Amino acid sequence: MNEKFTGNFTQQEPIPDAAIEAAVAVMKSGRLHRYNVAAGDPGEVALLEQEFAAAMGAKYALAVASGGYALACALRAVGVKPGDKVLTNAFTLAPVPGAIASVGAVPVFVGVTEDLVIDLDDLAAKTGQADVLMLSHMRGHLCDMDRLMTICNAAGVKVIEDCAHTMGARWRGRLSGTDGVIGCYSTQTYKHLNSGEGGLMISDDPNIMARAVMLSGSYMLYDRHLAAPDPAVFEAIKYDTPNISGRMDNLRAAILRVQLRDLGRQCARWNDRYRVVEEGLRHTPGLTVIDRPEAEDYVGSSIQFLLLDWPEDQIADLLRRCLARGVELKWFGGAEPSGFTSRYDSWRYAPSPPMQATDRVLKGIVDMRLPLTFSLEDCAVLARIIKSEVGAVWQAG
Ligand SMILES: *Cc1c(COP(=O)(O)O)cnc(C)c1O
Repeated sequence: MNEKFTGNFTQQEPIPDAAIEAAVAVMKSGRLHRYNVAAGDPGEVALLEQEFAAAMGAKYALAVASGGYALACALRAVGVKPGDKVLTNAFTLAPVPGAIASVGAVPVFVGVTEDLVIDLDDLAAKTGQADVLMLSHMRGHLCDMDRLMTICNAAGVKVIEDCAHTMGARWRGRLSGTDGVIGCYSTQTYKHLNSGEGGLMISDDPNIMARAVMLSGSYMLYDRHLAAPDPAVFEAIKYDTPNISGRMDNLRAAILRVQLRDLGRQCARWNDRYRVVEEGLRHTPGLTVIDRPEAEDYVGSSIQFLLLDWPEDQIADLLRRCLARGVELKWFGGAEPSGFTSRYDSWRYAPSPPMQATDRVLKGIVDMRLPLTFSLEDCAVLARIIKSEVGAVWQAG
């Protein structure tokens, strides 16, 4: 009599037929490397960069091998050196502090609020410690970007935006990734565009983007880019910027170009699903729904809720009960990093003092993916199951 869910939380939609055809055309041409182009054909990667820059309203764009590569490349491009401190979110995923560690820099974690965004008071208190903030819009939650930019501009802190979960999202109409000096995106399978692996970067700063292009491994072929700064900008930096290869290839770019045209529609479909789950979870005693600010246009590719101050064994019990009914929930509070969740204190290469208010929130965050293969009815079922199990565990506790 208990309803069960049978959907697969990691099943994405198929790659669209038009994208498959574009990929096959690249393979038939044999020209997979981005700089291996025929006369008169700029190549899929250069075209993707041009189209992505236009879609985001940015001057420049660069396609790279992964979202994590984009983050590390951005840090290098803005001049982060080994030993430098870099501010970042305590609530984020491993590739973010990992990118900071990869350039020999040291993460300084900033707390998270009950709205699941960076704690701007904590940020304001810590801006004296670093010149760069790597801001992770974790799970698609945008903080008050106006106030964040005011704090960072006043303190001379450059902002690199990690938009792995906010491609297509907006704050007061401004696309996510356009407030900071660089916006970084992932096109890994679980993000908003799917090329298996891949990353994108945008910037309006010619010097920073020229360095990023050189860093990505351009073999001095930057004049083949369609969304890069003028070749004159490269003259000043080209012998001082190392090549740290991390290019995208034409095959992935071909798949992405087709998907990019559909980004707006896909975001709307995610939000349809998100809202069904959100509504279904409202008014559940013990469970806190995350209310989204009016200024935010989010992309609901996953949903989070809080079980604030629940004992750990009850949360574990709830997760087990939901799983038994086919509902896979992730818990950020687990002592060991599992799956895609992790906590700032599990990254032992980046020691940090404990943050009580943040620990309280992290301990209560429950997270669920919403792949587009789920129907709206699926989403209603998910919410009903969670609601009934939360009710059972909460009352028993
Ligand atoms: C996925 C992800 C990244 C990195 O992307 P990859 O393409 O997997 O390297 C960075 N930040 C967040 C928050 C992510 O979820």
